[in-house]
Amino acid sequence: MAKGDPVLPTLEVVQQLEALPFTPSGVTKRGTPTRIFPVAAIVLQVDGILREEWKDQVEVSPALFSAYPKGFAPPPDMGTLVDTSYKLIDDESPATTQQCLNCVLRPGESPCLACHGNGMVPINDSDSMLTVTCPGCSGSGFVPCTTCDGARESVLCTVRYVNDKPVHQRRVFVPQVHPSLRPYLEAAIEPSATWPEEQRFDPEPSFVGSAYRGAAAVRSEEDFHGFFYGDALARCIAESKQAGSGLAKYELRTYAVPALWLVREIGISHAEHVAYLFEPDGKLRLVRGSSTMT
Ligand SMILES: [Zn+2]
Ligand SMILES: [Zn+2]
Repeated sequence: MAKGDPVLPTLEVVQQLEALPFTPSGVTKRGTPTRIFPVAAIVLQVDGILREEWKDQVEVSPALFSAYPKGFAPPPDMGTLVDTSYKLIDDESPATTQQCLNCVLRPGESPCLACHGNGMVPINDSDSMLTVTCPGCSGSGFVPCTTCDGARESVLCTVRYVNDKPVHQRRVFVPQVHPSLRPYLEAAIEPSATWPEEQRFDPEPSFVGSAYRGAAAVRSEEDFHGFFYGDALARCIAESKQAGSGLAKYELRTYAVPALWLVREIGISHAEHVAYLFEPDGKLRLVRGSSTMT
């Protein structure tokens, strides 16, 4: 994965864009940030296919049996946006040709459903008493057997039903910031947005290589270019492990969303917690928490 440099809401960048009276060293006058914490939220995106599969014994006409697709469904297609269903004859299960069970009384024929076997139907399906010859069976009251299509024998076989359903999971994990800010920060991060590739990271970069060498798993990176994931990382990793369960195929992407969390004094005993972050389209966004007593 090729990466350029991500855009980070560092104090310098925020100051430049917002022209706020920040002083990096801390307390100076009221309204300026007294505490500055670079944090990083994590967006987890999982795209997968849930495959449901079941089998059923069916009786079909010999013609349909030979024309029917057989074998296995193709592997799940990650590109599909809609539910996709397959119906295939399971050619690993035995198929037996037998006398058609649907037309035992009148071999090769079934009663016509349009006229219920009467051969006549009412005109315009109205309340009128007038009837005409049923167009479904030309008045005979019978049609070719719906199971064997008139062949008088049918094939009892097993059909494999496969249903592929696209699944999309989108989550945001916000690190522990002040409770007055946290819900606002969480709401400000759109988990289903297309986040820049530069912000993509692997929460468990070392697990693959280290297992082979027998080395202890190396710890994950705790920060994204100096912005700390805090407890969001462990929660994201736990969720990632669950994400694929039950899915036939899936892919998983994680993005860091760096945010600069600032505490500003308002008056003598109040503080305001705010955060600056870049939206997916590159716009700087200010997220305000509710003001609190200090
Ligand atoms: Zn009919
Ligand atoms: Zn039949």
